[in-house]
Amino acid sequence: MRIWGRQIRLSASDLSNHLACRHLTTLELQVARGARTAPDWAAPDLKVIQELGLRHEKAYLAHLAAQGLTVENLGHIDHKEEERLLAETLELMERGAEVIAQGALSDGEWFGRPDVLRRVAKPSKRWAWSYEVADTKLARETKATTILQLSLYSDLLAKIQGTLPEFLWVVPPGEGYAGEKYPALEYAAYYRHVKDKLVRAIGGGPPRKVVPTPETYPEPVEHCNVCRWFRECDTKRRADDHLSLVAGIRRQQRDQFETWNAETMEKLAVLPIPLKERPKHGSKAGYERVREQARVQVEGRTEKKLKHELLLPVGEGMGFCRLPEPTADDVFVDLEGDPFVGEQGLQYLFGFVLQNAGGEWSYEKKWALNREQEKKGFEWLVDEIMQRRAANPKMHVYHFGAYEPGAVRDAGRRNRPLAARGGASRLASSLQARNAGQCGRVFAEKSGSVLRIRAEDAVGDFADGDAVCGAPAGTWVGQ
Ligand code: SF4
Repeated sequence: MRIWGRQIRLSASDLSNHLACRHLTTLELQVARGARTAPDWAAPDLKVIQELGLRHEKAYLAHLAAQGLTVENLGHIDHKEEERLLAETLELMERGAEVIAQGALSDGEWFGRPDVLRRVAKPSKRWAWSYEVADTKLARETKATTILQLSLYSDLLAKIQGTLPEFLWVVPPGEGYAGEKYPALEYAAYYRHVKDKLVRAIGGGPPRKVVPTPETYPEPVEHCNVCRWFRECDTKRRADDHLSLVAGIRRQQRDQFETWNAETMEKLAVLPIPLKERPKHGSKAGYERVREQARVQVEGRTEKKLKHELLLPVGEGMGFCRLPEPTADDVFVDLEGDPFVGEQGLQYLFGFVLQNAGGEWSYEKKWALNREQEKKGFEWLVDEIMQRRAANPKMHVYHFGAYEPGAVRDAGRRNRPLAARGGASRLASSLQARNAGQCGRVFAEKSGSVLRIRAEDAVGDFADGDAVCGAPAGTWVGQ
């Protein structure tokens, strides 16, 4: 987002940012207006992803060239040379260029720079040919933001060639670069809806003049994890003692507590319980548990120490009682991987905690920095677990989250000889089975300095906080 003359200039990333967080639109608008300086910080992961994305785009263009297509690349022209970029892109389209990389499209306040414009045989109103947009993406699954971005480019393209492109193309890495196609019309209504919301959020119809920023609050959302404004928004929430700081609280519960004048964690911590009023949604008990969670956190903050409380009385099917009977052969597995190594990712750490014959706990691990070591690490993990399982079929395999079963399956797929002898799938199902059935599914989540253990039924979600143990971070689940 930037100001161009007196107009706001909007791009595809403004659309996806708005979808992720309304407050982000507010902050970026203030930067565009010169009312605020953007933080000089970017998530390190994003930098790596951007670099890998550029490599992927380059490889795709080389692939197209190797197919005998002529690739016209405008990547050398800076974004700021907007008029030159637009003119050269249009000239290439007029000439019927087969592939245009890093061209530019514009309409009113909207500006876009698609990775690739590909000529297709279908005629447009303007030419005997037309163009479709392709974007190179690293993600294995297409996200809503990618569809939005491509819909914007297709809309801008339609303004030029007079015809909406039939398909949007997403090109993930992989042999042959077979793109995934999405019918542009099917997503047009969704695109218009989000676009309209963004336009309204920044203040009205064209020609758009700078308007006062709408009131928004830095509500925590998933995008915060990679957002350059995180430090600022987090500081604001802490300064406000915002209810989102209460571990496990839901948005609906926050809204309800605010109507009861408990709009800060401190106020919530002293809200009288049992509650006098029924909440609009959910059970009173669920709200009371959240109130208690706030109390523990405020006490810990005041006393400057990590506090935890057991949820008593301990009853059948509650908290840790949902876990199976422990055995001395239980194994606690943790795997770490990097999805961006090569085309398939790499599991770089295989580790588990177990008890030796003397009852002492130890952590065993194998690092893997290449495919060969990954294979060895994987074989070692499977063999260790299968041996213990053969000796004691009642042993349990615990894992940190949902990541491990998928990672075991992926590593098994990449190490076919081992998978073929059955170890991989049995281990994966073992990992899942130990967290299912009568014990329900057990999740461990780190929230601030507290490790939360959450249990969920196969059918119904326990209210957050049901099995909150408040153990200090780093406590091994089940140890
Ligand atoms: S840090 Fe989170 S709340 Fe703040 S602008 Fe970014 S996404 Fe929005």
